[in-house]
Amino acid sequence: MVALTRTLSPALAGERLGAVLMAGLLGLGLLFVSGFAPTVALHNAAHDWRHTHNFPCH
Ligand SMILES: [Zn+2]
Repeated sequence: MVALTRTLSPALAGERLGAVLMAGLLGLGLLFVSGFAPTVALHNAAHDWRHTHNFPCH
């Protein structure tokens, strides 16, 4: 019988977690940077995204 699950080595699991955390940090950074951008259209886009996703705003 073939095993259906794969096990990751601890090094690969740590690398995956690091990639997920970096992607999340980058995404949140883009959200906040664009949210405080002086360009009205960019600010409104970030603002609308926050409200759509129930992100705390104002
Ligand atoms: Zn708002």
